[in-house]
Amino acid sequence: MALKPARTRIAPSPTGHMHLGTARVALYDYLLAKKTGGQFILRIEDTDLKRNVPGSEQGILDGLRWLGLQYDEGPDVGGKYGPYRQTERREIYSQHARILVANGSAYPCFCSADQLEKTKQEQMKRKENPHYDGTCRDMDPDEAARRMADGQAYTIRFRMPKEGATIAHDHLRGDIVTENKQLNDYVLLKSDGLPTYHLAAIVDDHEMEITHVLRGSEWLGTFPLHVNIVRAFGWEEPIWIHLSVFLKPSGKGKMSKRETAAAIKDGYSIFIKDLDELGFTPEGFLNWSALMGWGVAEDDVMDLDQMMERFNIDHLTSSPAAINFQKLDHFNATHIRLFSTEDLGGRIKPYFIREGLNVNDEALLKIVPLLRERLVTLDDCLSFGSFFFKEDVIPNPDDLIAKGLDAKQSAAIARRMYEILLAQSDISHESCEPPLRVYVEESGLSANQVFGILRVATTGQKVSPPLFESMEIIGREKCLARVLKAIELLEKL
Ligand code: GLU
Repeated sequence: MALKPARTRIAPSPTGHMHLGTARVALYDYLLAKKTGGQFILRIEDTDLKRNVPGSEQGILDGLRWLGLQYDEGPDVGGKYGPYRQTERREIYSQHARILVANGSAYPCFCSADQLEKTKQEQMKRKENPHYDGTCRDMDPDEAARRMADGQAYTIRFRMPKEGATIAHDHLRGDIVTENKQLNDYVLLKSDGLPTYHLAAIVDDHEMEITHVLRGSEWLGTFPLHVNIVRAFGWEEPIWIHLSVFLKPSGKGKMSKRETAAAIKDGYSIFIKDLDELGFTPEGFLNWSALMGWGVAEDDVMDLDQMMERFNIDHLTSSPAAINFQKLDHFNATHIRLFSTEDLGGRIKPYFIREGLNVNDEALLKIVPLLRERLVTLDDCLSFGSFFFKEDVIPNPDDLIAKGLDAKQSAAIARRMYEILLAQSDISHESCEPPLRVYVEESGLSANQVFGILRVATTGQKVSPPLFESMEIIGREKCLARVLKAIELLEKL
């Protein structure tokens, strides 16, 4: 059965770095919209001016682009439901606040911040949950109009029903029933004329014809309010989906600032801006995030198209997901193995360049098949393969000494190998391996001893991709120079 085209939105506030939580909502939004032939929208919720952080909107745009979650409408691409930045939609919210005041669902409140704070302190002393005490709720409309005309500052509050209960339906959690007397008269429009999240998000979701609201479970507390606002306007509700929370890697408690700081020390991050530098791929990261909160088999490897194929909101789950960075490694490594040689070459090249190395594209394409199986993160290409592009390598002299031998003996072996290599007009797997193997036979040494010296001499490291293939890529001149250098180092010991 064809699904109705969905319009979904990611609605981040530009208050800090874009993180895993936002990325996962964006991913599910994207999948649902694309799967149904609908649209995925980016809306910037920037009405809490004090909390806005310069540069974070750009971080969101860059993050979504890096992840490959291209939105159909948004502040920088436009669209017919714009503007897509809430501070540019003020008039829309005040108009809507007036509609609610006119139909009795909201009222102006003239209580000052000091007064509200005092009430709050008293309520806390009485061990009550802080809530608006209703001072202005039943103010005579003429009195309210007079105060407004006098220029008194006011907010607009929602008139929450006092009796009965609100039933709010979440697609994953079912009906959530809340006694209305537990609910507060929340502020919808602040005294600076800007809306709170509660009004702005509800109005925009309606105006932008959003069909499915996917968001974090931190909004469950005010979910009954949101449902009441939609109903006060007489609008149809979207399908609401409050996603699962992320728990610390230990599984105990929510992911905290401290855990986040600890992760970066271990080479992981929940901030999208860090992922590229840490060597994670969008494919690996998205696959990992997708499965936290989606009931498919835990190690299903999927790219965006395959996820879209299988995505179904009925399979999302509300159970908390513990962050497991080893799984992120697993998905990253798995996707790296699936990239074509050219694709992977293009992805690792920037890491070499950032290290100041001169990358030869022809060599790069030869290196990729040697490295691919060894990479967990893309930046691992450096520890396994920077020797390919370095002018010289500086081995640790002690590493040049073969097991069971001394420096002098090792130097003699290196010299013999130098002569064998020098006799070859080119250095390739085919040309070098046979004469070197003959030499191993004659010497009575083990291949490990002999080739260990050659490996450290030519690559500068004890672990490397296959030796002869590597030497072929390094090239004859550099190999010879490196072996000579190794002899020199050994002879100095
Ligand atoms: N601006 C809200 C936030 O950043 C968005 C919540 C929602 O998706 O409705 O948490």
